[in-house]
Amino acid sequence: MTFQDGGNFESGRIKRRSGGGKAVAGGGLGLIVLFLISQWAGVDLTQLAPLLDGGSSTSTQEEVAVTGCDTASDANENDLCRYDWTVQSLDAFWSQELERQTGTTFTEPGAATFSGTVSTGCGSASSASGPFYCPADQTIYIDTGFYKTLRTDFNTTGGPLAQMYITAHEYGHHIENITGVLGSANRRDSGADSDSVKVELMADCLAGMWAGNAATTPNPATGQPDLKPITKAQLKDALDAAAAVGDDRIQEAAYGEVDEHSFTHGSSEQRQEWFLTGYNGGDFNACNTFTTGN
Ligand SMILES: [Zn+2]
Repeated sequence: MTFQDGGNFESGRIKRRSGGGKAVAGGGLGLIVLFLISQWAGVDLTQLAPLLDGGSSTSTQEEVAVTGCDTASDANENDLCRYDWTVQSLDAFWSQELERQTGTTFTEPGAATFSGTVSTGCGSASSASGPFYCPADQTIYIDTGFYKTLRTDFNTTGGPLAQMYITAHEYGHHIENITGVLGSANRRDSGADSDSVKVELMADCLAGMWAGNAATTPNPATGQPDLKPITKAQLKDALDAAAAVGDDRIQEAAYGEVDEHSFTHGSSEQRQEWFLTGYNGGDFNACNTFTTGN
């Protein structure tokens, strides 16, 4: 149980996409790079690799608002409703904080869910890509079936705060996008000091920033924080998820060795540290890995 009773969010912030996105293996390298930099984990999660179709992102697909997420208990019991409410809490937080802290006008990202494959402004993607943000259509894409993968393949609990952290990380990429951080980064770079790693660690920090705030600062619309106080066990869930997708952990498991030159998301330790920097009161400037260094 994490959302406070009495929250005033409603169903429908998340749109379910279906009927499109026939993914074909192969496609343009540029688009693949675009995806990798915006994913939560820097790997193709099931090694299936049906990532892109190289462009036809206009195939017909239906978009239907998610329903049945009208109470805090819906959000606390159902993964899709948790995603829906988390995005709305992120909207409330960033609409207040972004302009105050950076001078940038806030715009909401789109938020979509899908099963199997989906057409996006960045090309077609499959659930195997894991959660991601597409800068071209400014939309977050999460197949909530991924949370099962988080438990089975990544050996983490995939608990509530871990799920929220992933949503908030992708939302962090949207914040990077509208503030110009994403646009000025060299997104084809890799390595421990690369812009790619800085982009990912900053998104982790921005995610922590929302989590810490949502549990302590009242939402003006309700007069109470959106989240109940975060327990040590919940925080550990989120940090375990962050560590599970560190480049070193993933490389060690896949290849038996670690090559810092191919890092794209940062080490397990770095991902935890940057989440905590935001969680423990860091603001946008403290989270800006391009100015503070990582
Ligand atoms: Zn990311």
